[in-house]
Amino acid sequence: MPQSKEGNAITTIHPIQTGSVRIKAAQRRIEGSGGLGKILLSRTWTDWLPIYAWVIEHAQGLIIVDTGETARTSESGYFPRWQPYFRLAVRMNVSLEQEIGPQLRKLGFKPEGVWKVILTHLHTDHAGGIHHFPYSEFLLSANEYRNAQGMAGMLQGYLPHRWPDWFAPKSIPFEPRAFGPFEESYSVTEAGDVVIVPTPGHTSNHVSVIVKIDGISYFLAGDTSYSEELLLDRQPDGVSPSPEVAVQTIDRILRYSEAEPTIYLPSHDPLSEERLKHLRTLTPAD
Ligand SMILES: [Zn+2]
Repeated sequence: MPQSKEGNAITTIHPIQTGSVRIKAAQRRIEGSGGLGKILLSRTWTDWLPIYAWVIEHAQGLIIVDTGETARTSESGYFPRWQPYFRLAVRMNVSLEQEIGPQLRKLGFKPEGVWKVILTHLHTDHAGGIHHFPYSEFLLSANEYRNAQGMAGMLQGYLPHRWPDWFAPKSIPFEPRAFGPFEESYSVTEAGDVVIVPTPGHTSNHVSVIVKIDGISYFLAGDTSYSEELLLDRQPDGVSPSPEVAVQTIDRILRYSEAEPTIYLPSHDPLSEERLKHLRTLTPAD
């Protein structure tokens, strides 16, 4: 995995695949005007897609981006039965050993020693491993946290009743400091090499994390698109509350990658891990 050895600072990014998910094709790529109805009625499933979380081994401490999914999703009643999305439009395949905690231990890290956990958004396959990090500081968009609460959140497919009681994320203090085409940003580290940027689209307050190592930007993209191909095709997904906003974010990422060598790493792209391993940067089409 990529490593920087400038001075004493060594930054490494490890992918952690917390099982797999299948969704409807109409969710992966918008069909017509999109929307939940179309997804529920669609009969076409995607292949099993990976559910990635990321570990950033940084001189200042261990940073996790997203927490993946939990094996509890296979328990009957884990998802609210009245929510048709979980009954009709998503399948999870996660074992206990695939959860982020056991996988971190296998890599030689202690979940209790994690410095910060950044959540791109609160959908279950990104928030399913929160319980592994009771001692870490969580960073999350304040509005994403607000939108995911209570019955209104559950109607949108969030599972606020599954968050641990102690879960009290810190809201990301975005500063009006542009980072390339992104109008706001927040630097997590003193060196400014781990930066959070707003990437609204998939959810209204979705964020991404950019890690700079030796002149390369590793773009930990969450669900800004389900694959690099869909990013290059400028195709929003079928659940974005505003497809226009999703495309604006896609265009910002493409503009960023024109100025900076960028490895694009969305959470559900089967090719993300290979791109990371072989340092394959994004080449925007003309
Ligand atoms: Zn999502």
